[in-house]
Amino acid sequence: MSDQNPVFIPGPTNIPDRLRLAMQVQTRDHRAPDFVETFAPVLEDTKTVMNTRDGTVITFPASGTGGWEAAVSNTLSPGDTVLVARYGMFSHRWIDLCQRHGLDVQIIETPWGAGAPADRFEAALSADTDHKIKAVLVTHNETATGVRSDIAAVRAAMDAASHPAMLFVDAVSSLASMEFRMDDWGVDIVVSGSQKGFMLATGMAILGVSPKALAAMEGAKLPRTFFDFRDMTGANASGGFPYTPPLQLIYGMRESLKMLFEEGLVNVYARHFRLAEGVRRAASAWSLPLVAQSPDLYSDTVSAMYVPEGFDSNALTDHAFNAYGVSFGIGLGEMNGRAFRIGHLGSLTDVMVLSGLATIEMAMVDLDYPIELGSGVAAAQEYFRRAHGNSVKSAA
Ligand SMILES: *Cc1c(COP(=O)(O)O)cnc(C)c1O
Repeated sequence: MSDQNPVFIPGPTNIPDRLRLAMQVQTRDHRAPDFVETFAPVLEDTKTVMNTRDGTVITFPASGTGGWEAAVSNTLSPGDTVLVARYGMFSHRWIDLCQRHGLDVQIIETPWGAGAPADRFEAALSADTDHKIKAVLVTHNETATGVRSDIAAVRAAMDAASHPAMLFVDAVSSLASMEFRMDDWGVDIVVSGSQKGFMLATGMAILGVSPKALAAMEGAKLPRTFFDFRDMTGANASGGFPYTPPLQLIYGMRESLKMLFEEGLVNVYARHFRLAEGVRRAASAWSLPLVAQSPDLYSDTVSAMYVPEGFDSNALTDHAFNAYGVSFGIGLGEMNGRAFRIGHLGSLTDVMVLSGLATIEMAMVDLDYPIELGSGVAAAQEYFRRAHGNSVKSAA
Protein backbone atom coordinates (compact mmCIF):
# COMPACT_ATOMS: atom_id res chain seq x y z
CA MET A 1 0.00 0.00 0.00
CA SER A 2 1.41 3.40 -0.94
CA ASP A 3 2.69 5.61 1.82
CA GLN A 4 2.11 8.59 -0.47
CA ASN A 5 -1.56 8.69 0.47
CA PRO A 6 -2.25 11.31 3.12
CA VAL A 7 -4.05 10.32 6.30
CA PHE A 8 -7.40 11.96 7.02
CA ILE A 9 -7.37 11.15 10.71
CA PRO A 10 -7.35 14.08 13.13
CA GLY A 11 -3.90 13.25 14.43
CA PRO A 12 -1.28 12.11 14.18
CA THR A 13 -1.12 14.22 11.03
CA ASN A 14 0.89 14.02 7.81
CA ILE A 15 4.55 14.86 8.36
CA PRO A 16 5.92 17.12 5.62
CA ASP A 17 9.26 15.99 4.16
CA ARG A 18 10.88 19.13 5.50
CA LEU A 19 10.01 18.09 9.05
CA ARG A 20 10.94 14.45 8.54
CA LEU A 21 14.37 15.65 7.42
CA ALA A 22 14.62 18.09 10.33
CA MET A 23 14.06 15.19 12.74
CA GLN A 24 16.79 13.14 11.01
CA VAL A 25 19.65 14.17 13.27
CA GLN A 26 22.44 12.16 14.80
CA THR A 27 22.64 11.95 18.57
CA ARG A 28 24.08 14.99 20.25
CA ASP A 29 25.01 15.56 23.85
CA HIS A 30 22.21 17.39 25.60
CA ARG A 31 24.66 18.39 28.31
CA ALA A 32 26.91 20.12 25.79
CA PRO A 33 26.87 23.91 26.03
CA ASP A 34 25.16 24.32 22.64
CA PHE A 35 21.94 22.50 23.63
CA VAL A 36 20.53 25.79 24.88
CA GLU A 37 20.87 27.32 21.41
CA THR A 38 18.68 24.56 20.03
CA PHE A 39 16.06 24.49 22.74
CA ALA A 40 15.61 28.04 24.04
CA PRO A 41 14.24 29.45 20.74
CA VAL A 42 11.70 26.61 20.58
CA LEU A 43 10.29 27.55 23.98
CA GLU A 44 10.27 31.25 23.11
CA ASP A 45 8.68 30.86 19.67
CA THR A 46 5.96 28.51 20.92
CA LYS A 47 4.70 31.42 23.03
CA THR A 48 3.86 33.25 19.80
CA VAL A 49 1.61 30.37 18.70
CA MET A 50 -0.11 30.37 22.11
CA ASN A 51 -0.40 34.18 22.08
CA THR A 52 1.14 34.56 25.49
CA ARG A 53 3.69 36.98 26.87
CA ASP A 54 3.31 36.07 30.52
CA GLY A 55 3.15 32.30 30.16
CA THR A 56 5.99 29.79 30.42
CA VAL A 57 6.27 27.04 27.82
CA ILE A 58 6.98 23.63 29.35
CA THR A 59 7.46 20.45 27.32
CA PHE A 60 7.68 16.80 28.29
CA PRO A 61 8.55 13.67 26.33
CA ALA A 62 4.95 12.39 26.21
CA SER A 63 1.81 12.42 24.12
CA GLY A 64 -0.98 14.88 24.88
CA THR A 65 -2.31 12.65 27.65
CA GLY A 66 0.92 13.28 29.56
CA GLY A 67 0.20 16.99 29.17
CA TRP A 68 -3.18 16.55 30.87
CA GLU A 69 -1.50 14.70 33.71
CA ALA A 70 1.19 17.35 34.08
CA ALA A 71 -1.41 20.14 34.22
CA VAL A 72 -3.39 18.45 36.96
CA SER A 73 -0.62 16.94 39.08
CA ASN A 74 1.41 20.14 39.34
CA THR A 75 -1.38 22.41 40.47
CA LEU A 76 -3.91 20.40 42.50
CA SER A 77 -4.14 18.30 45.65
CA PRO A 78 -6.06 15.08 46.29
CA GLY A 79 -9.74 15.83 46.94
CA ASP A 80 -9.67 19.18 45.14
CA THR A 81 -12.77 19.92 43.08
CA VAL A 82 -12.53 20.55 39.35
CA LEU A 83 -15.40 21.54 37.07
CA VAL A 84 -15.61 19.90 33.63
CA ALA A 85 -18.21 19.49 30.91
CA ARG A 86 -18.33 16.12 29.13
CA TYR A 87 -19.25 16.39 25.44
CA GLY A 88 -16.99 13.89 23.70
CA MET A 89 -14.33 11.24 24.06
CA PHE A 90 -11.49 13.63 24.85
CA SER A 91 -13.28 15.61 27.53
CA HIS A 92 -14.34 12.21 28.89
CA ARG A 93 -10.76 10.95 29.05
CA TRP A 94 -9.54 14.05 30.86
CA ILE A 95 -12.34 13.55 33.40
CA ASP A 96 -11.25 9.93 33.84
CA LEU A 97 -7.66 11.03 34.40
CA CYS A 98 -8.77 13.52 37.07
CA GLN A 99 -10.87 10.89 38.81
CA ARG A 100 -7.97 8.44 38.87
CA HIS A 101 -5.87 11.17 40.46
CA GLY A 102 -8.32 11.36 43.36
CA LEU A 103 -9.87 14.67 42.37
CA ASP A 104 -13.52 15.45 43.02
CA VAL A 105 -14.78 15.97 39.49
CA GLN A 106 -17.96 18.01 39.12
CA ILE A 107 -19.23 16.98 35.70
CA ILE A 108 -21.67 18.91 33.54
CA GLU A 109 -23.13 16.34 31.14
CA THR A 110 -23.51 18.00 27.77
CA PRO A 111 -24.83 16.49 24.54
CA TRP A 112 -22.15 15.22 22.16
CA GLY A 113 -22.15 17.75 19.34
CA ALA A 114 -22.58 20.72 21.69
CA GLY A 115 -19.73 22.82 23.05
CA ALA A 116 -18.61 23.94 26.48
CA PRO A 117 -21.74 25.39 28.14
CA ALA A 118 -20.52 28.77 29.43
CA ASP A 119 -23.88 29.56 31.07
CA ARG A 120 -23.89 26.31 33.04
CA PHE A 121 -20.28 26.92 34.08
CA GLU A 122 -21.33 30.34 35.34
CA ALA A 123 -24.23 28.85 37.33
CA ALA A 124 -22.00 26.18 38.90
CA LEU A 125 -19.31 28.70 39.77
CA SER A 126 -21.79 31.18 41.22
CA ALA A 127 -23.24 28.42 43.42
CA ASP A 128 -19.74 27.57 44.66
CA THR A 129 -19.64 30.40 47.19
CA ASP A 130 -16.82 28.93 49.31
CA HIS A 131 -14.65 28.44 46.19
CA LYS A 132 -14.15 24.71 46.41
CA ILE A 133 -13.67 24.52 42.65
CA LYS A 134 -9.96 24.95 41.99
CA ALA A 135 -9.95 24.59 38.22
CA VAL A 136 -12.28 24.61 35.22
CA LEU A 137 -11.20 22.18 32.50
CA VAL A 138 -12.26 22.74 28.90
CA THR A 139 -11.49 20.86 25.70
CA HIS A 140 -11.08 23.63 23.10
CA ASN A 141 -11.54 21.35 20.12
CA GLU A 142 -13.42 18.11 20.87
CA THR A 143 -11.81 15.84 18.31
CA ALA A 144 -14.50 13.17 18.69
CA THR A 145 -17.31 15.43 17.52
CA GLY A 146 -15.62 18.19 15.51
CA VAL A 147 -16.72 20.89 17.92
CA ARG A 148 -14.74 23.99 18.78
CA SER A 149 -15.76 25.65 22.03
CA ASP A 150 -15.65 29.34 22.82
CA ILE A 151 -12.93 29.74 25.43
CA ALA A 152 -13.44 33.52 25.72
CA ALA A 153 -17.06 32.81 26.72
CA VAL A 154 -15.92 30.39 29.43
CA ARG A 155 -13.51 33.02 30.74
CA ALA A 156 -16.33 35.60 30.71
CA ALA A 157 -18.53 33.17 32.68
CA MET A 158 -15.80 32.69 35.29
CA ASP A 159 -15.34 36.45 35.57
CA ALA A 160 -19.10 37.03 35.79
CA ALA A 161 -19.19 34.62 38.74
CA SER A 162 -16.14 36.40 40.23
CA HIS A 163 -14.63 32.97 40.75
CA PRO A 164 -10.89 32.54 41.33
CA ALA A 165 -10.59 29.03 39.82
CA MET A 166 -7.86 28.38 37.26
CA LEU A 167 -8.77 27.70 33.63
CA PHE A 168 -7.10 24.70 31.97
CA VAL A 169 -7.63 24.16 28.25
CA ASP A 170 -6.90 21.12 26.09
CA ALA A 171 -5.83 22.55 22.74
CA VAL A 172 -4.18 19.37 21.47
CA SER A 173 -6.13 19.33 18.21
CA SER A 174 -6.41 23.10 17.78
CA LEU A 175 -3.12 24.78 18.64
CA ALA A 176 -1.19 25.87 15.51
CA SER A 177 -4.28 25.18 13.35
CA MET A 178 -6.90 27.49 14.86
CA GLU A 179 -6.27 30.75 16.69
CA PHE A 180 -5.51 30.40 20.40
CA ARG A 181 -5.24 33.45 22.68
CA MET A 182 -3.85 32.29 25.99
CA ASP A 183 -3.42 35.69 27.66
CA ASP A 184 -6.57 37.34 26.28
CA TRP A 185 -8.70 34.37 27.32
CA GLY A 186 -7.09 34.19 30.76
CA VAL A 187 -5.98 30.60 30.27
CA ASP A 188 -3.85 29.25 33.11
CA ILE A 189 -2.66 26.09 31.41
CA VAL A 190 -2.94 25.16 27.75
CA VAL A 191 -2.06 21.58 26.77
CA SER A 192 -0.97 20.49 23.31
CA GLY A 193 1.18 17.92 21.56
CA SER A 194 3.66 17.58 18.71
CA GLN A 195 1.64 15.31 16.41
CA LYS A 196 -1.29 17.46 15.33
CA GLY A 197 -1.01 21.12 14.30
CA PHE A 198 2.76 21.01 14.62
CA MET A 199 2.88 18.19 12.01
CA LEU A 200 5.56 16.19 13.85
CA ALA A 201 5.98 12.70 15.18
CA THR A 202 4.18 11.96 18.44
CA GLY A 203 6.19 12.34 21.60
CA MET A 204 6.27 15.89 22.88
CA ALA A 205 3.61 17.28 25.20
CA ILE A 206 3.62 21.06 24.94
CA LEU A 207 2.16 23.24 27.68
CA GLY A 208 1.77 26.95 28.30
CA VAL A 209 1.57 27.78 32.01
CA SER A 210 0.48 31.11 33.50
CA PRO A 211 2.16 32.74 36.51
CA LYS A 212 -0.99 31.91 38.53
CA ALA A 213 -0.69 28.19 37.70
CA LEU A 214 3.03 28.22 38.50
CA ALA A 215 2.20 29.77 41.88
CA ALA A 216 -0.46 27.08 42.52
CA MET A 217 2.34 24.53 42.32
CA GLU A 218 3.60 25.63 45.74
CA GLY A 219 0.63 24.16 47.60
CA ALA A 220 -0.23 21.34 45.18
CA LYS A 221 0.07 17.95 46.86
CA LEU A 222 -0.59 15.49 44.06
CA PRO A 223 2.54 13.39 43.52
CA ARG A 224 4.66 14.11 40.47
CA THR A 225 8.20 13.29 39.46
CA PHE A 226 8.60 12.86 35.71
CA PHE A 227 6.10 15.66 35.07
CA ASP A 228 7.32 18.09 37.73
CA PHE A 229 7.10 21.65 36.37
CA ARG A 230 9.72 22.83 38.85
CA ASP A 231 12.36 20.33 37.72
CA MET A 232 11.67 21.19 34.10
CA THR A 233 11.60 24.98 34.36
CA GLY A 234 14.65 24.93 36.64
CA ALA A 235 16.67 22.87 34.21
CA ASN A 236 15.40 24.80 31.17
CA ALA A 237 16.39 28.11 32.76
CA SER A 238 20.02 27.03 32.76
CA GLY A 239 19.76 25.62 29.23
CA GLY A 240 19.29 22.01 30.27
CA PHE A 241 16.73 19.25 30.70
CA PRO A 242 16.12 17.22 33.88
CA TYR A 243 16.51 13.96 31.94
CA THR A 244 17.23 12.95 28.37
CA PRO A 245 15.31 15.24 26.01
CA PRO A 246 13.62 14.03 22.80
CA LEU A 247 16.28 15.73 20.73
CA GLN A 248 14.91 14.79 17.31
CA LEU A 249 11.51 16.23 18.21
CA ILE A 250 13.11 19.42 19.47
CA TYR A 251 14.85 19.85 16.10
CA GLY A 252 11.57 19.06 14.41
CA MET A 253 9.74 21.59 16.54
CA ARG A 254 12.23 24.30 15.63
CA GLU A 255 11.60 23.66 11.94
CA SER A 256 7.84 23.36 12.43
CA LEU A 257 7.73 26.80 14.04
CA LYS A 258 9.76 28.16 11.12
CA MET A 259 7.27 26.68 8.65
CA LEU A 260 4.28 28.09 10.53
CA PHE A 261 5.84 31.57 10.71
CA GLU A 262 6.89 31.47 7.05
CA GLU A 263 3.31 30.75 6.00
CA GLY A 264 2.11 33.22 8.62
CA LEU A 265 -0.18 32.11 11.44
CA VAL A 266 -3.06 34.13 10.01
CA ASN A 267 -2.67 32.28 6.71
CA VAL A 268 -2.36 28.93 8.49
CA TYR A 269 -5.69 29.57 10.20
CA ALA A 270 -7.28 30.79 6.96
CA ARG A 271 -6.09 27.64 5.17
CA HIS A 272 -7.59 25.44 7.88
CA PHE A 273 -10.88 27.29 7.61
CA ARG A 274 -10.89 26.92 3.83
CA LEU A 275 -10.10 23.19 3.89
CA ALA A 276 -12.71 22.64 6.59
CA GLU A 277 -15.31 24.59 4.65
CA GLY A 278 -14.60 22.48 1.56
CA VAL A 279 -15.24 19.34 3.62
CA ARG A 280 -18.43 20.83 5.06
CA ARG A 281 -19.69 21.67 1.56
CA ALA A 282 -19.06 18.06 0.58
CA ALA A 283 -20.93 16.76 3.64
CA SER A 284 -23.83 19.00 2.75
CA ALA A 285 -23.84 17.74 -0.86
CA TRP A 286 -23.96 14.16 0.49
CA SER A 287 -26.75 15.16 2.92
CA LEU A 288 -24.69 13.77 5.80
CA PRO A 289 -25.36 15.91 8.89
CA LEU A 290 -22.39 17.08 10.93
CA VAL A 291 -22.24 16.00 14.56
CA ALA A 292 -21.48 19.63 15.51
CA GLN A 293 -24.86 21.14 16.28
CA SER A 294 -24.45 24.60 14.79
CA PRO A 295 -22.07 26.58 12.56
CA ASP A 296 -20.57 28.55 15.46
CA LEU A 297 -19.27 25.22 16.78
CA TYR A 298 -17.73 23.94 13.55
CA SER A 299 -14.14 22.86 13.97
CA ASP A 300 -11.61 23.81 11.33
CA THR A 301 -9.45 20.77 12.07
CA VAL A 302 -11.88 17.84 12.05
CA SER A 303 -15.41 17.20 10.80
CA ALA A 304 -17.48 14.37 12.23
CA MET A 305 -20.53 13.40 10.18
CA TYR A 306 -23.33 10.92 10.75
CA VAL A 307 -23.82 8.09 8.28
CA PRO A 308 -27.42 7.44 7.16
CA GLU A 309 -29.68 5.23 9.27
CA GLY A 310 -28.92 1.55 8.72
CA PHE A 311 -25.26 2.08 7.77
CA ASP A 312 -22.22 1.31 9.92
CA SER A 313 -19.50 3.97 9.91
CA ASN A 314 -16.89 1.40 10.95
CA ALA A 315 -17.61 -0.64 7.83
CA LEU A 316 -17.08 2.53 5.79
CA THR A 317 -13.73 3.50 7.32
CA ASP A 318 -12.57 -0.15 7.12
CA HIS A 319 -13.54 -0.33 3.47
CA ALA A 320 -11.83 2.98 2.61
CA PHE A 321 -8.65 1.63 4.15
CA ASN A 322 -8.81 -1.86 2.67
CA ALA A 323 -9.93 -0.86 -0.81
CA TYR A 324 -8.07 2.43 -1.29
CA GLY A 325 -5.39 2.59 1.40
CA VAL A 326 -6.68 5.75 3.00
CA SER A 327 -7.40 6.27 6.69
CA PHE A 328 -10.32 8.29 8.00
CA GLY A 329 -11.24 8.79 11.65
CA ILE A 330 -13.63 6.27 13.16
CA GLY A 331 -16.54 7.31 15.37
CA LEU A 332 -15.40 7.37 18.99
CA GLY A 333 -17.46 6.52 22.06
CA GLU A 334 -21.13 7.39 21.57
CA MET A 335 -20.39 8.04 17.90
CA ASN A 336 -18.95 4.59 17.23
CA GLY A 337 -20.68 3.06 14.22
CA ARG A 338 -22.83 6.18 13.77
CA ALA A 339 -20.36 8.76 12.51
CA PHE A 340 -16.96 8.97 10.86
CA ARG A 341 -14.48 11.81 10.92
CA ILE A 342 -12.42 13.58 8.31
CA GLY A 343 -9.32 15.10 9.83
CA HIS A 344 -8.22 18.23 7.98
CA LEU A 345 -5.36 19.66 9.97
CA GLY A 346 -1.66 20.10 9.72
CA SER A 347 0.19 19.59 6.47
CA LEU A 348 -2.68 19.61 4.00
CA THR A 349 -3.62 21.40 0.79
CA ASP A 350 -6.84 21.82 -1.16
CA VAL A 351 -5.64 19.16 -3.61
CA MET A 352 -5.00 16.67 -0.83
CA VAL A 353 -8.43 17.32 0.68
CA LEU A 354 -10.07 16.74 -2.71
CA SER A 355 -8.33 13.36 -2.89
CA GLY A 356 -9.74 12.43 0.50
CA LEU A 357 -13.24 13.47 -0.45
CA ALA A 358 -12.99 11.53 -3.71
CA THR A 359 -11.84 8.45 -1.81
CA ILE A 360 -14.53 8.42 0.84
CA GLU A 361 -17.07 9.08 -1.89
CA MET A 362 -15.94 5.96 -3.77
CA ALA A 363 -16.08 3.97 -0.56
CA MET A 364 -19.63 5.18 0.16
CA VAL A 365 -20.84 4.36 -3.35
CA ASP A 366 -19.20 0.91 -3.07
CA LEU A 367 -21.27 0.34 0.05
CA ASP A 368 -24.53 1.56 -1.54
CA TYR A 369 -24.80 4.86 0.27
CA PRO A 370 -27.50 7.02 -1.29
CA ILE A 371 -25.03 9.54 -2.69
CA GLU A 372 -23.96 10.63 -6.15
CA LEU A 373 -20.36 9.93 -7.15
CA GLY A 374 -18.56 13.27 -7.51
CA SER A 375 -21.18 15.35 -5.72
CA GLY A 376 -19.13 16.11 -2.62
CA VAL A 377 -15.94 16.60 -4.61
CA ALA A 378 -17.71 19.04 -6.95
CA ALA A 379 -19.08 21.05 -4.03
CA ALA A 380 -15.61 21.34 -2.54
CA GLN A 381 -14.05 22.13 -5.93
CA GLU A 382 -16.55 24.90 -6.48
CA TYR A 383 -15.85 26.33 -3.05
CA PHE A 384 -12.07 26.09 -3.37
CA ARG A 385 -11.83 27.75 -6.77
CA ARG A 386 -14.00 30.64 -5.59
CA ALA A 387 -12.05 30.92 -2.36
CA HIS A 388 -8.93 31.31 -4.48
CA GLY A 389 -10.64 34.05 -6.50
CA ASN A 390 -11.02 31.88 -9.60
CA SER A 391 -14.73 32.26 -10.17
CA VAL A 392 -14.71 33.60 -13.73
CA LYS A 393 -16.96 30.98 -15.24
CA SER A 394 -19.85 31.33 -12.81
CA ALA A 395 -19.58 35.14 -12.89
CA ALA A 396 -20.10 35.11 -16.65
C1 LIG B 1 -5.16 13.84 20.33
C2 LIG B 1 -5.82 14.52 21.47
C3 LIG B 1 -5.34 14.40 22.79
C4 LIG B 1 -4.12 13.67 23.19
O1 LIG B 1 -4.01 12.40 22.84
P1 LIG B 1 -2.64 11.63 22.84
O2 LIG B 1 -2.95 10.44 22.07
O3 LIG B 1 -2.28 11.38 24.26
O4 LIG B 1 -1.62 12.55 22.20
C5 LIG B 1 -5.98 15.09 23.78
N1 LIG B 1 -7.03 15.86 23.52
C6 LIG B 1 -7.50 16.03 22.28
C7 LIG B 1 -8.65 16.96 22.07
C8 LIG B 1 -6.92 15.36 21.22
O5 LIG B 1 -7.40 15.53 19.98
